Amino acid sequence: MKATTNQKPSTIKENAPLRPIQSVPDMCLACGTCSAGCPMTGIEGFDPRKIVSMVLWGLDEELVDSKLPWLCTMCGRCEYACPMGINIVHMIRTARGMTDRDKIPEMIQKGIELGLQTGNNLGLSKEDFVFIIEDVAEELAEETGYSGFKVPFDKKGANLLHTLHNKLVNTQNEDLVHWWKIFHAAGEDWTIPSQNWEGVNWGLFSGDDETMKCFVDRIVEHMEQLEIANLMYPE
Ligand code: SF4
Ligand code: SF4
Repeated sequence: MKATTNQKPSTIKENAPLRPIQSVPDMCLACGTCSAGCPMTGIEGFDPRKIVSMVLWGLDEELVDSKLPWLCTMCGRCEYACPMGINIVHMIRTARGMTDRDKIPEMIQKGIELGLQTGNNLGLSKEDFVFIIEDVAEELAEETGYSGFKVPFDKKGANLLHTLHNKLVNTQNEDLVHWWKIFHAAGEDWTIPSQNWEGVNWGLFSGDDETMKCFVDRIVEHMEQLEIANLMYPE
């Protein structure tokens, strides 16, 4: 858990900073509806009702120091189902944000570092990214009806900015082609940024607001510079 400047917490709000989240865990009925709908319930002792209870009891440190917050997929099913409207996902994300950065799962931390350094979670250079995209586009251009197909990079004034999920570039190129075929059939005026193209914001998953803002800022910057009003975001 991140160190605080408080030497000796004197109130429950200082001692249990997760508790005053607007989710009001004190409202929990312990009904278990959240746990029943959670795809992770029972895996490595995970259970969203347990997390809400830990927050309610002021066991922030125990929660933050455990692996429980990192087992959540952040799918949101629990709070959709909760009859008391408790914001469980926000609670879990806040707990993640309270974790020392050197203790968060390595895969997430690595993706974030690469994303901040290179503009994508894979760490691809601009040249490698453009090469991969153009290679996939050339294959599509060989199909009937797509002769001369090219991917429009950094097109100013396009109608739609298409940011990419890194897996489409890494292992699932066929999903890229599906999108391009839809754009083609719809006559869409679209473009892909040649740099900072990552649409997956792992700052969301790490609980780190500054990182999340950095990734969002890059997309906003693209839209402003290219004068594009619409965004297709893969998450
Ligand atoms: S957001 Fe997390 S806790 Fe809630 S249902 Fe999904 S995996 Fe379970
Ligand atoms: S669904 Fe809501 S009220 Fe029921 S146990 Fe989960 S957090 Fe508590």
